[in-house]
Amino acid sequence: MHKLSVSQLVDGLRNGDFSSVELTQCFVNRMQKFNDLNAFITELGERAILQATNADKLIKEKKHRPLTGIPIAHKDIFCMYGVKTSCGSKMLDNFYAPYDATVVEKLDQAGCVTIGRTNMDEFAMGSSNESSYYGPVKNPWNTDCVPGGSSGGSAAAVAARIAPLATGTDTGGSIRQPAALCGVTGLKPTYGRVSRYGLIAYASSLDQGGPFGKSAEDCAYMLQAMAGFDEKDSTSLDKAVPDYTQLLNSTLKGKVIGVPEEYFSEGLSAEVKSVIEGAIKWYEQQGCEIKNISLPNTNLAIPAYYVIAPAECSSNLSRLDGVRYGYRCEDPKDLRDLYDRSRSEAFGDEVKRRIMIGTYALSAGYYDAYYLKAQQIRRLISEDFKKAFEHVDVILGPTTPEPAFKIGEKTADPVTMYLSDIYTISINLAGLPAMSVPCGFSDSLPVGMQLIGNYFEEDNLLNFAHQYQMDTDWHKKTPEGFE
Ligand code: GLN
Repeated sequence: MHKLSVSQLVDGLRNGDFSSVELTQCFVNRMQKFNDLNAFITELGERAILQATNADKLIKEKKHRPLTGIPIAHKDIFCMYGVKTSCGSKMLDNFYAPYDATVVEKLDQAGCVTIGRTNMDEFAMGSSNESSYYGPVKNPWNTDCVPGGSSGGSAAAVAARIAPLATGTDTGGSIRQPAALCGVTGLKPTYGRVSRYGLIAYASSLDQGGPFGKSAEDCAYMLQAMAGFDEKDSTSLDKAVPDYTQLLNSTLKGKVIGVPEEYFSEGLSAEVKSVIEGAIKWYEQQGCEIKNISLPNTNLAIPAYYVIAPAECSSNLSRLDGVRYGYRCEDPKDLRDLYDRSRSEAFGDEVKRRIMIGTYALSAGYYDAYYLKAQQIRRLISEDFKKAFEHVDVILGPTTPEPAFKIGEKTADPVTMYLSDIYTISINLAGLPAMSVPCGFSDSLPVGMQLIGNYFEEDNLLNFAHQYQMDTDWHKKTPEGFE
């Protein structure tokens, strides 16, 4: 059952080939069996079986919703009522959310059964899942390697077939980069497409929740349930949600694909490059026109992001002060001591680094020099894409410069780690949708191609990816030992 697509699972449940309790039990068993991957912070097996029992009842009474009875895992960043919502941090290790995030609520309403809460980099800051308070997640393709981050637990869970679907969030690449490193499909929607209400904020102007699945079709099912206007999120857009699952069959003939020269320059591994070129060739054979384009401000994306994201995080994380909820130090002397020690004892190194950079960038006298400058660069990056989309339907390139790296390999040098997101970060700065699609291997590790679309063209991206997946089987490959 763990190998089936979402549409096969939906059919199987409705035809009575298996029940949701059986299906859920299968994934819960796998979650326990593959516990060594450390993909989960909280397992919700018993709760899931109760939910599945109810799902079976609804299916029997023909009161099912689109995803009734389908198991899912949630990144530990989405608030879930009465369930520990740690965000990968000691700071929130004792936090049981008093409400559901809109994404959780919507997926519940669509009928999903939540099997657990996935591990992640602390407050979603990282590209390797090594900054989690709960320890690193292992990549199922090679357990000496990282799964990518920050949504590494979700990507590893889908890759290891522990969950057919999982939620992630992407501020600078955290859905696409781990999807690429784990050989699964992941989509970061247009900023404003999916509600951020109840998603613990890292950098509010960049954060966006999205789906992980084995295929684009599976992601389409999940995005369908997640997307839509939410009055509780002031940046959510009131725009009709198309029927993604019905828009997967347009011909690619005559479509124009832009290939940015900046994504194929220095720093890209030769093997990853040749795998991506193979995918480009496939699209060419389908009658797509391949156009070389330039996104000239690409090299400014990382410096701009590492001013904007820390600035916003320093502000967002100031609410965690040991007073209202979360970690509180023992026996504080006075209020100042309470703030100081609660925060220094509960935040990890990477989070502290970002808070310090952000506080500095926002301080009087530096604001114009750093924050304002970064915002101007952000505009230039958006303009690059705007110009490109006047001539192309989609932009294609690598998701990451190299496949999964070894655990510990980049932890000593934050800047090397930051470069893992060199091809993904500008998309967040521009607010565009993009996805990562498995398209080959390098040294037995999966490689992902990135497809970038124009605003609100998730349907177009999903179609591009689905057409490719109907003719290739990279997305069906399962790591050894997890078949
Ligand atoms: N790796 C990037 C960072 O550390 C992006 C993380 C993310 O998308 N949440 O900020």
